[in-house]
Amino acid sequence: MRVLILGGTSEASTLVKRLDPRIDATLSLAGRTSAPKREPVRTRIGGFGGPEGLTAWIAENRIEAVIDATHPFAAQIGRNAALTCKRTGVALLAIRRPAWERRPGDLWTEVETMAEAALALGEMTRRVFLTIGRLEVGAFTTAPQHDYVVRSIEPIGDALPVPRLAEIAARGPFDEAAETAFLAERRIEILVTKNSGGPATYGKIAAARALGIPVVIVRPPRKPDVASVPDAEGALAWLERRLDC
Ligand code: NAP
Repeated sequence: MRVLILGGTSEASTLVKRLDPRIDATLSLAGRTSAPKREPVRTRIGGFGGPEGLTAWIAENRIEAVIDATHPFAAQIGRNAALTCKRTGVALLAIRRPAWERRPGDLWTEVETMAEAALALGEMTRRVFLTIGRLEVGAFTTAPQHDYVVRSIEPIGDALPVPRLAEIAARGPFDEAAETAFLAERRIEILVTKNSGGPATYGKIAAARALGIPVVIVRPPRKPDVASVPDAEGALAWLERRLDC
């Protein structure tokens, strides 16, 4: 069975490592990181050119099923996959990682966008830890009064031109003990994150709760209404069922 896996997440990584040998899979990455982790399946990198490009690619490669294993904050590619699969009749399954739920002790301010997150930091100067990836840090240019610590996989370049900025290049997962030490060492007063869900980056949420540090948390965008499972195991079971049909 020829399967396209739209990836860029830990779920996609788990999935491609455990595929049934009867599955001929291609993993697709957007190409946002310059040195993505190598995976044990054929990998293509770069956009398809919208739903039309994706439709053409699926036809050329005789794809029989698509797994949308993209990140909860990747809003566009899931819509393109839903539209393409509806038009072409190719089976589609999405892995939809549940968002984190607020727990007692969490000091969360929930917002819809990065622009709102920047506003939510307030007027007073604070030491802010930004763990939102590299691409959206520019939204905080509107709040230059803060001291920023930015952690991302790749350098942010000049995307956040503010007077006080420390950059840390690192790739998760990050556990709670390491995050607690980090927040304390860096004297972080407020954390900004996406509500990405999943265990790999939950450590900072648990650490902030334990230290009484407030968190500005961006809600995930709405995704199209398609068949979904919460994790890679669910997608493996779905593929097995299709193989057995
Ligand atoms: P997006 O807004 O949904 O996608 C923008 C465009 O990038 C899409 O229209 C598509 O271009 C291309 N694209 C996205 N994912 C692709 C994939 N897996 N394979 C081929 N092309 C892809 O996505 P994004 O927020 O820019 O994220 C890009 C990728 O990074 C996603 O695959 C996602 O899983 C991963 N990621 C995102 C975040 C995040 O916070 N956004 C965090 C971790 C990982 P065409 O229209 O030209 O096909």
